[in-house]
Amino acid sequence: MPSFVAPTRDSRFIINEVLKIDNYGALPGFEGASTDIVDAVIEEAGKFASEVLAPLNASGDQEGCTRRQDGSVTTPAGFKEAHGQFRESGWGTLSAPEEFGGQGMPHVLGFAVEEFMSSANMAFAMYPGLTNGAVNALLVKGSPEQQATYLPKMVANEWLGTMNLTEPHCGTDLGLIRTKAEPQADGSFAITGTKIFISAGEHDLTENIIHLVLARTPDAPEGTKGISLFVVPKFLLDEDGNPGERNTLMCGAIEHKMGIHANATCVMNYDGATGWLVGEENKGLAAMFIMMNAARLGVGIQGLAQGEAAYQNGVAYALERRQGRALTGPTDLDEKADTLMVHPDVRRMLMDARAFTEGMRALALWAGLLVDLTHVAASEDERTSADDLLGLLTPVIKGYGTDLGYKTATDMQQIWGGHGYIVENGMEQFVRDARIAMIYEGANGVQAMDLVGRKLAMNGGRAIQALFAEVGKEVAAAKGDERLADLAGRVEKANGELQAATMWLMQNGLSNPNNAGAAAYDYMHITGIVALGLMWLRMGQTSASALDAGAEDKPFYEAKLVTARYFGERFTPEAGALRRKMEAGAEAVMALPEEAFARA
Ligand SMILES: Cc1cc2nc3c(=O)[nH]c(=O)nc-3n(C[C@H](O)[C@H](O)[C@H](O)COP(=O)(O)OP(=O)(O)OC[C@H]3O[C@@H](n4cnc5c(N)ncnc54)[C@H](O)[C@@H]3O)c2cc1C
Repeated sequence: MPSFVAPTRDSRFIINEVLKIDNYGALPGFEGASTDIVDAVIEEAGKFASEVLAPLNASGDQEGCTRRQDGSVTTPAGFKEAHGQFRESGWGTLSAPEEFGGQGMPHVLGFAVEEFMSSANMAFAMYPGLTNGAVNALLVKGSPEQQATYLPKMVANEWLGTMNLTEPHCGTDLGLIRTKAEPQADGSFAITGTKIFISAGEHDLTENIIHLVLARTPDAPEGTKGISLFVVPKFLLDEDGNPGERNTLMCGAIEHKMGIHANATCVMNYDGATGWLVGEENKGLAAMFIMMNAARLGVGIQGLAQGEAAYQNGVAYALERRQGRALTGPTDLDEKADTLMVHPDVRRMLMDARAFTEGMRALALWAGLLVDLTHVAASEDERTSADDLLGLLTPVIKGYGTDLGYKTATDMQQIWGGHGYIVENGMEQFVRDARIAMIYEGANGVQAMDLVGRKLAMNGGRAIQALFAEVGKEVAAAKGDERLADLAGRVEKANGELQAATMWLMQNGLSNPNNAGAAAYDYMHITGIVALGLMWLRMGQTSASALDAGAEDKPFYEAKLVTARYFGERFTPEAGALRRKMEAGAEAVMALPEEAFARA
């Protein structure tokens, strides 16, 4: 049975030492986030994740959710109690605004906690995770009355939230949505239609479920310009604001799926259900994007989280399992074979996993800090520049983070050999659970198009220029230290590849959009490599300084420097190959006529 221990030391290192959260102490929300508070929160959250959620991961996967005739859904044994503990401990309220009962702590801390919960039990973590997205949308677009009605209960996790976009005939292309919203005399709307694949659409964890639903009002314009957002509670509220009459919506079925079995993925039937418009009519997609951007970062964290959990179990096995001898001669003469750790190919997979998970953790937590800075940084300039970088990095964290999270999970399964393929050992669950993160919240190919088609060009390329400059600054700072000079040179080169790739896109993507489309995925991966390179430069410098200052935890910082070197040697060269791939253009990609694809 796999085990999980939250990587609290690493999260504390990133938040306290690399991002230096203490430096932000004067900003609203950061007053209460001193180093010792951060340490305490991280350790407690880690304990909750490892002790309460991780033990339910395999059993929840095996049992799954059950739908009854009346449309009600039961979550696996232990989930309701665990959610009760989650709620009582206030984990859902951590970075929610104080005005609605939240603790108002910085998002950077919330992101660290989210990672632990998702590593321990991704299917569980999605129930409160989606609620966070719904809370964000209501915070920005909800009326004061809607906020007062729903947010305190949702922030407290007494009611959970969902997001209802997908319909049978439309997933990526939301302009095709058919669900109808008919205005009623009392100002509400009657919502009718079928939504599919709705995560946490129905369950027994809370007394009410608040659905955010995209639908069309009569005479709405075609396409995405005619979509509105509605809040549709499972139980309508009585005069005291408590769940009363049952709304006319129901879970019609739950999907049988590859992974995250313990999260109910529902077909939701709305049959004239009562809902209320959130924000302006026909501006629903913009409102939903607020939710989706937060959710995309959350999904990137899921990739990291599954990679981390799988890594821990890959290492545990490699340290114990004995097969063959080291290429350089036996290392353990008392035994008939050495452990898997002596084999360079096993080491390659473990080092890949370390370089990715630690680099990605730094990137995700930096993104958490950027979320905070977009709201509370002291000057308009700082808020704008945080927003630029966050917008640019969101599709990269989602796309690159989940691609590599999945790769890490399969690599760790590989370390277990045939035993990794056997269900009771639990490694295949990481692979199954990690797989969905590449698909939902906008498939990774769509993330790549968001990066290339929207984010690059915004404000005349200001965000990507800011990333180039940030990397340049960090390269210059690291070059003088012989422990980091090699990494700095390699990240500089990868940054050069990204600059050249960007130039190529500008010269070839506009004249032929297929060139941009065919190059986008590789471009997203180059950006991922450079972003992680930037993180390794920062972590490397922090570690080198800590060692120079005689830090106690020497092995931790020394391991960082080795992994930084590994990242430079083994990740950055791919940037050049990816650039050459994308610069081949779209011609061969698009050359075959459609009918030639089917096998005779
Ligand atoms: C377990 C699970 C949970 C989910 N939870 C939710 C939820 O809570 N709420 C919700 O609303 N939805 C949810 N979804 C739906 C999910 O977001 C969609 O499945 C996803 O966005 C893709 O849509 P689709 O399946 O219709 O694929 P399609 O849109 O048909 O796309 C199929 C493939 O074509 C590619 N593609 C499509 N359009 C483009 C394009 N313009 N450019 C490049 N490539 C393109 C995509 O990359 C994709 O791989 C969930 C799905 C699953 C499986």
